[in-house]
Amino acid sequence: MNKALRRAVIAGNWKMNKTPGEAAELMEQLKPLCEGAGCGVVVCAPFVDLHAVLEAAQGTGIGVGAQNCHWEQSGAFTGEISAPMLASMGVQYVIIGHSERRQYFGETDATVNRRVRAALAGGLTVILCVGEVLTQREQGVTCELVGMQTKIALGGVAPEELKNVIIAYEPVWAIGTGRTATAEQANEVCRAIRGTVSSLYGAAAGDAMTIQYGGSMNAGNAAELLAQPDVDGGLIGGASLKPADFAAIIAAAGK
Ligand code: PEP
Repeated sequence: MNKALRRAVIAGNWKMNKTPGEAAELMEQLKPLCEGAGCGVVVCAPFVDLHAVLEAAQGTGIGVGAQNCHWEQSGAFTGEISAPMLASMGVQYVIIGHSERRQYFGETDATVNRRVRAALAGGLTVILCVGEVLTQREQGVTCELVGMQTKIALGGVAPEELKNVIIAYEPVWAIGTGRTATAEQANEVCRAIRGTVSSLYGAAAGDAMTIQYGGSMNAGNAAELLAQPDVDGGLIGGASLKPADFAAIIAAAGK
C-alpha cells in the first residue's frame, strides 16, 4: 500500500509535565498551530490533566490520550487507572509499553499485552511502543527483538481490532537523549515491524498499520524521518511541549 493511503499521526507525549492549569495554557497555544493539520494530531497528557485537555480540545480535531492504563476494569489496584475510566471521560488514545514504563516501573511484554487488550476492549486506540536498548542494537538483534515485542503485545488481538492500534518504534537510546536514529535506521525497523504485522494478520493489515518513529524527533530532523516510506508519523516527547516545534513536526508530517 502506498504510504499516502495510511494515516500519519503525530502524537505528543507530555510525560510527567504540566499541571492542569499549565496543560490548558499549552493547549491554547497549540490549537491555532494545529488548525488544518494534514495528519492526525494527538496529545497524551498526565491523568490529572486529561479533563482540562479534553475541554480545550473540543471541536479542534486534536485527539486526547493517556500515557498508560491498567488491564483490569476496576478493583483493588491502588494508584491505577482503567481503560473504561478513560473512555468514559472521552479519552480516545492511550500509550502502552512506553520504554520509561518498561525501564522504571517493571512493565514487561506480558503486562504490555494485557494492557493492550484491555485498552482495545475499552474502546481506546492504543499507541503501542516497542524499541531496543543500545546494547541490543550493537548486538544486531534490533529487528528480531522489536518483532518479538510486537508479536507478544498483539497476542490475542483480533484482526478487526487492529484499526485501533498504532505502533511506535522508539529506540530507547534515542528517547530524551537528543540522539536520533538515522532516517534509514528508523525506516528499516518500521518496515520490519510492518513485516511482523503482515506475518500475523496478512499483508493488507501490515500495509494499513500506522507505524510511528519516536526518539528525539524535533523540528529540524522531522522532515527527513517522516519522509521515509514506512514511517507514518511520530511519537514526540520533549518537542511536544514546545508549541512551535510541535507545529513544525505536524507540518512536516502533512507534506
Ligand atoms: C517519547 O517520550 O516517546 C519520546 C520519543 O521522547 P523524546 O521525543 O523526548 O525523545
